[in-house]
Amino acid sequence: MTGNKKAALLLIYTGGTIGMKKDIGEGTLKPFDFSQIAEQVPEIRQFSVDIKTHTFDPLIDSSDVEPSMWQKIATLIRDSYDLYDGFIVLHGTDTMAYSASALSFMLGNLGKPVIFTGSQLPVGVPRTDGKENLISAVEIASAKDSAGRPMVPEVCVYFNSQLMRGNRSVKVNSEEFSAFRSPNYPPLAQAGITIKYNKEYIMKAPEAGTPLQVDTELDTRVSILKLHPGITREVVRHILCGRESRAVIIETYGAGNAPTKEWFTDIVSEAAGMGKILVNVTQCLSGSVDMSIYATGKALQKAGVINGYDSTTESCLAKLFHLMGKTADNEKVKELMGKNLKGEISIF
Ligand code: ASP
Repeated sequence: MTGNKKAALLLIYTGGTIGMKKDIGEGTLKPFDFSQIAEQVPEIRQFSVDIKTHTFDPLIDSSDVEPSMWQKIATLIRDSYDLYDGFIVLHGTDTMAYSASALSFMLGNLGKPVIFTGSQLPVGVPRTDGKENLISAVEIASAKDSAGRPMVPEVCVYFNSQLMRGNRSVKVNSEEFSAFRSPNYPPLAQAGITIKYNKEYIMKAPEAGTPLQVDTELDTRVSILKLHPGITREVVRHILCGRESRAVIIETYGAGNAPTKEWFTDIVSEAAGMGKILVNVTQCLSGSVDMSIYATGKALQKAGVINGYDSTTESCLAKLFHLMGKTADNEKVKELMGKNLKGEISIF
């Protein structure tokens, strides 16, 4: 929106701590009606923005989030895309990185901001972090560049003064206000006295007039195998070769390393031989997989495991759901897993 026209935002409230307030009688936290948001956060009246709200029913603790919720959010954004300049998704912090990752793949040709935020303390308590998170998310979602284009046309997480690419974010702290980090990609913006945008790291919007493309098909047949010393053959076999999975994310050590025991490599080869999509993602918070450094990584590569680069597990899972939902061809999925689709991996 250019000139003096007010920006229009859709605030999608899914649940989580941010929207709770203390029921004085019972002393418990209960979700409050977000259509009364201006009462809870009167500061947002000072912005020149029109905010409409959409409240999910039921509101959920995000530990209960399911891919069906992502489909609902994506569909809501699709159906109201032309009416708004930006979207804010209020979401519990526990699975916010999964949901933001999923939406980043489901919303193709996105030309408007979709900002996920939440809080560690409910918005109704005196020391809440929810007000700052919400107020800054509103400012970012309505921000335009000098040509009147949205400043951040991508799916992001805003938390504790940092704007992060959604599919690069991870929840790293269960009690501090700085609960999220983007370990492998610089923040897209930093909020201080002003909000400073790191323009060179922000995605470019598609050509004006390019229609939003929403893919709601998801295939969730993905398992995660987290390696640890002492892991047994039975557990590895069950997860890698089980019928229930079409793809397995192997969370490896360091730069993508795994045990060299013969039984382990044999099971990996067996799973690859079954046509499964096996992706190597490191357990380390920062850094990338490089299967060419150590013999232990090379063995995985030889057995047919593909590189997850510096993907977060959350993003890798969401990308697999999305790509597998688009095609039944596992070779095609493997090929696309190696491509940087939405800024989720760095390939040098
Ligand atoms: N358990 C809550 C949730 O993820 C925590 C939060 O919102 O911070 O919904």
